[in-house]
Amino acid sequence: MTTAGVRRAERIIVTGVVQGVGFRPFVYRLANELDLDGVVGNDSSRVFIAVAGIPDRISELVDRLVTDAPPLAIIERVEREPTTETIEPGFRIVDSRRAAGERTLVAPDTAVCDDCVSEMRDPTDRRYEHPFITCTNCGPRFTIIRELPYDRPNTTMVDFDMCAACADEYGDPANRRYHAQPIGCHDCGPRVSFIGSGPADDPIGATAAELRAGHIVTIKGIGGFHLACDARDSDAIARLRGRKNRPDKPLAIMVRDVAAARRLAVISDAEAAQLTSPARPVVLLRARPDNGLSGLVAPGNPLVGIMLPYTPVHHLLFDRLDAIDALVMTSGNTSGEPIVHRDDDAADVLAPLCDAMLTHDRAIHAPCDDSVVRVVRDVLLPVRRARGYAPIPVPIVDGARTVLATGGELKNTFCVGSADHAWVSPHLGDMENLETLRLFEETIARFERFYDVDPEVVAIDAHPGYLTSGWARSHRSDRVVEVQHHHAHVAAVMAEHELDPHQPVLGFAFDGTGYGSDGTIWGGEVLVATADGFERVGHLAPIQLPGGDAAVRHPYRVALAHLAAADVGWADDLAPVAAATDVERNLLRRQLDTGFACVPTTSMGRLFDAVASMLDLRHHITYEAQAAIDLEIAAAGAHLAAVRSTTYGFDVDGARIDGAPVLRAIVADVRSGADAAVVARRFHEAVADVVLGVVERLRPGPDVPIVLSGGVFQNALLTDLCIERLAATGITPLTHHIVPPNDGGLALGQVFIATHSNRRPTQET
Ligand code: ZN
Ligand code: ZN
Ligand code: FE
Repeated sequence: MTTAGVRRAERIIVTGVVQGVGFRPFVYRLANELDLDGVVGNDSSRVFIAVAGIPDRISELVDRLVTDAPPLAIIERVEREPTTETIEPGFRIVDSRRAAGERTLVAPDTAVCDDCVSEMRDPTDRRYEHPFITCTNCGPRFTIIRELPYDRPNTTMVDFDMCAACADEYGDPANRRYHAQPIGCHDCGPRVSFIGSGPADDPIGATAAELRAGHIVTIKGIGGFHLACDARDSDAIARLRGRKNRPDKPLAIMVRDVAAARRLAVISDAEAAQLTSPARPVVLLRARPDNGLSGLVAPGNPLVGIMLPYTPVHHLLFDRLDAIDALVMTSGNTSGEPIVHRDDDAADVLAPLCDAMLTHDRAIHAPCDDSVVRVVRDVLLPVRRARGYAPIPVPIVDGARTVLATGGELKNTFCVGSADHAWVSPHLGDMENLETLRLFEETIARFERFYDVDPEVVAIDAHPGYLTSGWARSHRSDRVVEVQHHHAHVAAVMAEHELDPHQPVLGFAFDGTGYGSDGTIWGGEVLVATADGFERVGHLAPIQLPGGDAAVRHPYRVALAHLAAADVGWADDLAPVAAATDVERNLLRRQLDTGFACVPTTSMGRLFDAVASMLDLRHHITYEAQAAIDLEIAAAGAHLAAVRSTTYGFDVDGARIDGAPVLRAIVADVRSGADAAVVARRFHEAVADVVLGVVERLRPGPDVPIVLSGGVFQNALLTDLCIERLAATGITPLTHHIVPPNDGGLALGQVFIATHSNRRPTQET
């Protein structure tokens, strides 16, 4: 049947991540299939299509633009309107244009796709075992782009001249490598090389041999260098930890495939979906007992961070590793510094840490660490957002002004906001050394240039000691707006869920440390908040913390402070008391009596630390939240029947949420010989109970959203319990799915507040 004569012409605009992801050839193939005439092209952030043909077919095209889009594309909007322009017969791809004032959305780096892996394993394919095989659906993006628009001369692939065969594929709209900028082959692409005492003509084989021999190898990847060794070899891991000066923080491992991962950890379908997603994050999973991994991978921690191979080199390496199915793959750096990404730095910094190096000659323009996620109630909970996610923007609706937000101090990210998008940087690291600060400055400059944003306002954390805030005060002093830490946490969730910035939410911001509006340290906060401001309607009762931040590394000192606040004597039978020397106890007692060098804090994170110490789980920590993780893990193993025989309750009086009764109940339980797991679980339940109780008392109206944020909500058990409690009363709390609940999410909240409120910069002197 023909409907000739009712042809129509339309102009279609597609907005989102649609450049450098194979979108134009996809439209080309679709239009040919549907027998439509016209053109497709992109002008930076948008793809425009002019089509003529049967109206039903045009509608089908519009539908399938969304449903059948290439894997890396992120479609924000499709708009269509009739057009009177002349459309020539046939369908063509036209050259990209960059219109002034328009922004390109840069795609994140993506794991090598299944099609490319199959070709790489096919001995008849011309890219058989090519370590840099890629196509429009996969491979590096963010880390190789020097300038926009995303064309090969603007990437680190500029160093490689395409051979004739690759150029043909690159120029053929029907080819799956059409305009794949990192395209290459054995003849023209990047090459791997091996540095060490092995056969230089077989770099991957030599690397595998080194790893099998129990050695440590530096491996150059997508966003930086990794240090690798056999994850079952305790001697190798002990050496790695010693050289890296990383005593017990868990190390991520890379595992051959999902089947091998299932032998090491218990993995739900939702977790498997995250493991195999194109972002290929490190997924924190519950390790199986006796899985054969070295105990040094994650000492004392029943979670194990697993990722799957995500570059062709990783796949080729596992093909040669025989019995080894799991490698420690930790960021190549010395403790606390950003991941090394330059060849020179690798030679200086990493060579002394390793026995051999597998490197390659494609430059990494910008570093990007591995991302880390958890799965709670089958939904993604980001812990560290970097490779695979950054720089996908968060939509902003009607932002009033352009903003740079500098984030926090630990797990820093910054965020650049315009009228319609917020670009959160990848995880940069803890702001405690010059290298991280330098990366922060460089990456800010890059984002401002990429997205053509000259920030009218610079939003900073109000903490007087943050390096990031100090940087803003000295470099952008005329535009600084301070944002309270916990307000920013709550606003980050509002931004993710695209809430109305001027409608209040009831937000729980539970974390370790944040500078409060009264100059004390907050961290157990309940806020009624909009972008314009907040009211602190609830908070943990303050305790005096002797030594302030110094106590953070020693949970037993925090526990002693909590015991004092709860009027519990420091008797020798209590674990935190036994952990302190006589001299310390006397000193702390004097400090608490006089208030000397004490800092008042309402921190929920510190309460978790105190309970971990009370249960003799951990009295000293070497990385943030270490004791709280112990407590969560202990609680997750509790026998529920035993848990339910009693409950702990916070005292809520007005805005004050007092933990003293909980502390006293824990002391009583410990003294009666209760199981630590049971006590830990009761404590988690008590926190969830008080969240529910506060919601019932303080929610300003039945439609006011409940928001959970702050690093404490990285605790999957606590988050799960809170969601469960609230769900029982018909409330679905809003949590983080895009940025982490920890300080890595602060910058997004700062942008949301600064762009939607009319707060003016305060002139600094
Ligand atoms: Zn591919
Ligand atoms: Zn080639
Ligand atoms: Fe925080």
